[in-house]
Amino acid sequence: MRKKIIAGNWKMNIKPSETAALVKAVAEATAAFADKVEIVCCTPAIDVPAAVAAAAGTKVGVGTENCHWEDHGAYTGEISTGMIVDAGANYVITGHSERRQYFGETDETVNKRTRAAIAAGLTVMMCVGETLAEREADLVEEVVGRQLKVGLKDVTPADCAKLVIAYEPVWAIGTGKTATPEQAQDVHAFIRATLAKLFGAETAETVRIQYGGSMKPGNAAELLAKRDIDGGLIGGAALKAADFAGIISAAAAAQ
Ligand code: PEP
Repeated sequence: MRKKIIAGNWKMNIKPSETAALVKAVAEATAAFADKVEIVCCTPAIDVPAAVAAAAGTKVGVGTENCHWEDHGAYTGEISTGMIVDAGANYVITGHSERRQYFGETDETVNKRTRAAIAAGLTVMMCVGETLAEREADLVEEVVGRQLKVGLKDVTPADCAKLVIAYEPVWAIGTGKTATPEQAQDVHAFIRATLAKLFGAETAETVRIQYGGSMKPGNAAELLAKRDIDGGLIGGAALKAADFAGIISAAAAAQ
């Protein structure tokens, strides 16, 4: 059975001085579900030390929102996977649509970041998802299939123990529009079938696939009840401990 994983993506929203309070509030509000659900806060890199300190002794994991593929060097503004590990974080998001849209992220650079993260021992949540125009042009499988095949090039079945896929339809992120549970399940099933082609059916059954896009306490249960929806990547609702805990409670009930 795949353990559900609910991860918050704080984006560029919480200051270092605000971090400990939010992590502690999340830990407190979700302690009852922490054995059933993997709980993660992915924070801006500058918040990581405060988040790691606040999460110590709790079951809340800490991650970053991006990583570079090189170990060190002249890459102004980037952070390496070794730095993330050294700071005490265990997770990283790669390929978020905002990185693709605003920072020139491509399937190839997502692949480099994903492989570097896995090699460093981080659990990586690699995001895929179509825009509204692509959905309307009936290109969902073509786009998501390409993002998976290129993004996971040279990733091995053994590496999949550290891999989570986040399906985030771009039109549902931060818009209040959620994919229906059926729309999400259809794409999750397609993602699992693609993983089966890449890594074999047995490995594909072990990889967790999160849904992301305006997931909230009110819609989480019906999404998380679907066969191939193994968790959530949460933006806005991860900034309020009570809302985040509401989603985690729904995940625990669906487990
Ligand atoms: C996200 O950015 O990963 C996300 C899913 O955001 P939101 O929950 O706000 O739609």
